[in-house]
Amino acid sequence: MIKEYLKSPHLKLDWIGIRKVTETSTYYTVRNHKAEPPSQKFDQGYMIEVLHDGYFGYAATCVPSLSAIKECVEIAAKRAEQSKHFPLYKFSQEVRPYQRGEFISEVKIPHNKMTMGEIFERLQAVAPILKQADSVIDTVSSLIVVETETEIYGSNGTEILQRHTFVTSDLDSTASKNGVTQKRSDTESLQMGLEILDPKDLEKRAQKVGAQVLELLEAEECPTETCHLVLAPDQMMLQIHESIGHPLEMDRILGDERNYAGWSFVKKEDFGNLRYGSDLLNIVFDPKLKGEFASYAFDEIGHEASKEYLIEKGILKRGLGSLESQNRSKLYGVANQRASSWNRPAIDRMANINLLPGNDTFEEILGKVENGIYMETNRSWSIDDFRNKFQFGCEYARKIEKGKLTKVLKNPNYRAISTPFWNSLMALGNPGTFKSYGTMFCGKGEPNQAIRVGHASPVCAFKNIEVFGGAQ
Ligand SMILES: [Zn+2]
Repeated sequence: MIKEYLKSPHLKLDWIGIRKVTETSTYYTVRNHKAEPPSQKFDQGYMIEVLHDGYFGYAATCVPSLSAIKECVEIAAKRAEQSKHFPLYKFSQEVRPYQRGEFISEVKIPHNKMTMGEIFERLQAVAPILKQADSVIDTVSSLIVVETETEIYGSNGTEILQRHTFVTSDLDSTASKNGVTQKRSDTESLQMGLEILDPKDLEKRAQKVGAQVLELLEAEECPTETCHLVLAPDQMMLQIHESIGHPLEMDRILGDERNYAGWSFVKKEDFGNLRYGSDLLNIVFDPKLKGEFASYAFDEIGHEASKEYLIEKGILKRGLGSLESQNRSKLYGVANQRASSWNRPAIDRMANINLLPGNDTFEEILGKVENGIYMETNRSWSIDDFRNKFQFGCEYARKIEKGKLTKVLKNPNYRAISTPFWNSLMALGNPGTFKSYGTMFCGKGEPNQAIRVGHASPVCAFKNIEVFGGAQ
């Protein structure tokens, strides 16, 4: 029905695009060994975009009928017409390329191949491992499965189908004793099926969470000092996201987001010149990495995605700019125009932003540190509007003395400024230390859009960083 409609002539518009999104989200939680009622959310709708005399107009509907879509085309055309009175940039059809293709997440165990009972059994099996002592006051093992189908049609013949399966498995344990409360967690967000509930993997992850939360109860406070800092991939995820991903979003650099999400310390003239980090720093935009949370073949305007270097040997090369931002900035970009759902227009977003691994084993990295601290798992974050000065807290830390991990430290934090921090990168873990994480909650845009992003990184070491204790 949509394809036929797009073939007929329309209101003298330059281009019409229809994006249909169908999404089912299912939530399973076991709290303190008890299964909570599962829930499921279904969402479906259509975003209609038109390009008219160089200006875009948008309208969306959740009514699945051709008459509702036609009405949206008329509303969007009126909005495009009105935009002419507030001109920002005149676009051509170049920013909506013709494209055909499909993408389907690789899934070994589909959601419908396990019963609800079997899923809860797997989640409940780890509950006793998360509670290894009476001081544990709360445990959670949960699973979220999101199945999304996105169909994109354009009046230029574009036809794209993408089916994504996103899974998030979370294990938490909170303990309290003598006025000290600590939480340890392990969250994995990947594109895969229910193989994420592999009993042996879950047990291993729960064992670490359950044991470490008790270690934290007895641990010393993280000291205040300047020393070498070693970060695990689950903290590197947040570090890359906040101090590389967001500052490189081209719409921020162009000023579009300054009212809400913020601006960027990066300027247009920095591309090709700025020494962002040490020679060890290689950052790629890679929506092609199998299983990573934000993998896709096309962005939501039909631009085919490819792996691109954003930072190569420490030098800033390319920003996170979609075809629209590339047109406006006259700079190279990537295929990253994405929307959180059918009722939002696509804007510049991160996808998978990864730090490429080096050669050192974890032990070799520690061996380079005479006095330092090793931190795992983000707990808190704060960064300024220009994505420059930051302060991040982690759940778990260990002192590094003479190249070896020693005592456990609680409430670890560190602070730095983005480019000096990345220039202090002194050692990079090998592929054996490389791990992929993701989140479904990267927020940006007015109205707000929470979107899924992925970040993979090896273990990394940084020279002379300010660390300090205290719950943030
Ligand atoms: Zn974000």
